[in-house]
Amino acid sequence: MIAPLIPSVPLNSLDQLWIQVSGTVCNLRCSHCFISCSPDNHSFWFMTREQVRGALEESASMNVKEYYFTGGEPFMNNEIEGILEDALAFGPTTVLTNATLFPPRRVRELRRIQDASAHPLELRVSVDGPSAEINDPIRGEGTFDRAMEGVGHLVAAGFRPIITTMQSWPCEAMPCMLQAFRDALATVGYDEPRLKVLPPLLIGEEAKRNRPYRSCERVTHEMLHGYDLDQLLCTRARLVTATGVYACPILLDYPSARLADTLTEAVRMRAPLAESACYTCYENGAICSNATTGTGESRGASSCDQVPAVASTCTEGAVSTCG
Ligand code: SF4
Ligand code: SF4
Repeated sequence: MIAPLIPSVPLNSLDQLWIQVSGTVCNLRCSHCFISCSPDNHSFWFMTREQVRGALEESASMNVKEYYFTGGEPFMNNEIEGILEDALAFGPTTVLTNATLFPPRRVRELRRIQDASAHPLELRVSVDGPSAEINDPIRGEGTFDRAMEGVGHLVAAGFRPIITTMQSWPCEAMPCMLQAFRDALATVGYDEPRLKVLPPLLIGEEAKRNRPYRSCERVTHEMLHGYDLDQLLCTRARLVTATGVYACPILLDYPSARLADTLTEAVRMRAPLAESACYTCYENGAICSNATTGTGESRGASSCDQVPAVASTCTEGAVSTCG
């Protein structure tokens, strides 16, 4: 039962099904990770191919438009290739990755999986700066070079990964940072890259690295008057984990966001906007999606080239404030 003082929103349509396929297990230990993933964070364990198949089958009648796989690092799940093959039978599939576990053999396998499917397979690669000097203090020594090598293999195999970065620089620096990304990616053969800039979420490790939310940074009932609720991912998505279904992929660590044991139950539940991270969604819109409008329709690949999150992030404040 949601306390009446806490605003909540219904699921309007299940456009996106997110799957926490590697739980909280990651080969990296990034200093900004909003769910504090690491090699030894076993709070949420890997999902088996059978568990994922069960979720896909459960979703089959729910008009899901896109499937997203996240973690942790999805490619630490040793069943990931088969899991992606299964998902692509159901619809367009995106996997979020740090691209540090991409030997050529794996990329060839991803190419084979994509070629065998009528649905697109998107790779979303997280890199937190256009150079090792900016990225590595956040993601770990050597991770920039490893990720860029992974991107190079993907591009050589015909993929156009979406390069995702958390904005850790002032808005004035945005044009030169974006140009630096383009220059760096060109060195591994990726011209006219698709870039997506995300605002920081001040939870998990990022609350320690940056700052926690202020007590006033919360979504209230009043703030929702006249607000386009489609901007919030939780009105259009649910997250399936090995141990239950959550309102969204951001609030994995928050019991308030665990809605039900099954997807069928969870789609009927309202998502409580109980946590301060909801404030960042409120200010910035559907930050987790590849690139979507508030109507739930994909704007397609080209919108990533224009970095749609940047303008709103920079005009309204990269880090939320109370006014
Ligand atoms: S931010 Fe991504 S790559 Fe880094 S620890 Fe978290 S899940 Fe792993
Ligand atoms: S963090 Fe965002 S997507 Fe998740 S419940 Fe809050 S508003 Fe919804």
